[in-house]
Amino acid sequence: MRRLKESPVAPPEFTAFDAGYLVSANGSWRSNYPVIDRQKCVRCAQCYLYCPDGTISSEIEFDYDFCKGCGICAKICPVGAISMEKETASSHA
Ligand code: SF4
Ligand code: SF4
Repeated sequence: MRRLKESPVAPPEFTAFDAGYLVSANGSWRSNYPVIDRQKCVRCAQCYLYCPDGTISSEIEFDYDFCKGCGICAKICPVGAISMEKETASSHA
């Protein structure tokens, strides 16, 4: 049976920032931000794969410096583990 070769380079943890596609923080104008309920999360990685900005790590952590608040991760999550919250002055403090 043919086997896939192991990749010589580990995939970046955050697919956009760590891969070099985003170079400066751009999430400051966001109006809503994603919050995960870890009790519900089944670690299917759909949010990691679908985030258009690559701001969800393989450990399912959000990088709020780069997240634009589009809500795709919340929409794609099959178990409703991500909700979108309104930004306030004390968000992420
Ligand atoms: S899509 Fe939902 S269940 Fe899957 S890893 Fe992301 S938060 Fe967890
Ligand atoms: S809200 Fe959009 S940009 Fe932010 S983590 Fe979710 S999918 Fe990525």
